[in-house]
Amino acid sequence: MTTIAPRPAAAAESGGHPAPPLDPPRTLSTPRLASGAGALRALALACRECDAAFEAGPIAICENCLAPVEPVYDPDRSLPDRDAIASRPTSLWRYREWLPFTGTPTLSLDSGWTPLVEAPALARALGVERAWVKNDSVSHPSLSFKDRVVAMAINAARAFGLDTLACASTGNLANAVAAHAARAGVPAWIFIPHDLELGKVIGTLVFGARVVRVRGTYDDVNRLCAQIADRFGWGIANVNLRSYYGEGSKTVAFEIVEQLGWRFPTAVVAPMAGGSLVTKLRKGFAEFRGAGLAAGGPLPRLYGAQAAGCGPIARLVQSRGDRLVPEVPNTIARSLAIGNPADGSLAARTIHETGGWAAAVSDEAIVRGIRVLAETTGIFTETAGGTTVAAALELARSGRLAPSDEVVLCITGHGLKTVEAVAPTLTDTPTIGPRVREVEALVREI
Ligand SMILES: *Cc1c(COP(=O)(O)O)cnc(C)c1O
Ligand SMILES: [Zn+2]
Repeated sequence: MTTIAPRPAAAAESGGHPAPPLDPPRTLSTPRLASGAGALRALALACRECDAAFEAGPIAICENCLAPVEPVYDPDRSLPDRDAIASRPTSLWRYREWLPFTGTPTLSLDSGWTPLVEAPALARALGVERAWVKNDSVSHPSLSFKDRVVAMAINAARAFGLDTLACASTGNLANAVAAHAARAGVPAWIFIPHDLELGKVIGTLVFGARVVRVRGTYDDVNRLCAQIADRFGWGIANVNLRSYYGEGSKTVAFEIVEQLGWRFPTAVVAPMAGGSLVTKLRKGFAEFRGAGLAAGGPLPRLYGAQAAGCGPIARLVQSRGDRLVPEVPNTIARSLAIGNPADGSLAARTIHETGGWAAAVSDEAIVRGIRVLAETTGIFTETAGGTTVAAALELARSGRLAPSDEVVLCITGHGLKTVEAVAPTLTDTPTIGPRVREVEALVREI
């Protein structure tokens, strides 16, 4: 047995501000690191702020200064060139030199490499030169971009010998953890707010996961999971495995660059929940520029999208302040409803540094955004995607997106998960007898 020294509870997906330790020191079973040349090993960690170094392990927060810790990549590791990457299987593991492991991953090998779909009608609606949808609504296996981060978390859990996967979730992470865990044959414990959409709950339960509804908001769920992080020897994807988990989001940036022919767009619009995705987009773009894989030109301007009913990061961007003001969420965009986002300040800073901006849009605009995307691209997205489209339209109207821009919209989840959001706006369909005459009458009406 290894004694883990007391340390602050880990931050979570998104809400997790460090909380003081509530429990006495306790023990975890010794990590059963796989051995052998090809075996998967997680990278060691270092503090983002004070540079303190830590061995690879289920640690999210620096015990010295409470800042998040991050995997340390060997600057001298050999990196593939464009042709080498292009010849690899079409999953996010084609970028494995920029993912937080050495050796060969054995789990969740098919996530990533979602389509980048050009959307000329959407470009016209935005008044920009070109637009694309990065379509993570068809992500494998659980139809949201959370497959990317869970692919990291489950391999980290395996590397550390943690035999149960858990998470605090606003819905999509629940679906992803449950699906990836089922495939790996490991038990899953899923903590969600008590009143989540039916599609998100069923899309988790179906995989045989233990689903626990917590009375409260996501932020309450998250705090609870931070408090239990080390108690049961679980790998909690967005809590004690967060340092590894978050790196999966970089693959959205890598894929955009490769799918555009190894170059940057001028702008990217992405939804924000805990704020991690936008920060990892920049990290990914910067890493590919550093590796000489993306043609010259500035990094893309990053634009954040939130709901007006839960927009703490967007408001921080707009106020140019440096202190995030937490909110109590009240929006149909449940997957983005994090009132106290862990990476909120970093996300706002990242957006400003790239020359971007943020928008917080109404629930009505979100529903319109879902329908605009569906009607112009044939892609059905959930409320987070509607938020992204609505934010892009608002940013274009206010001149933040320019006519010369080439914009990628990150569409991060599938619409069948949140059908109740659009259902009330879709008009009744006619019901007829099976008679040609009745069809003729309908066609004449139009
Ligand atoms: C989790 C999530 C995001 C953004 O997540 P961050 O916490 O900001 O990294 C965006 N879209 C969907 C659908 C999500 O589930
Ligand atoms: Zn530190």
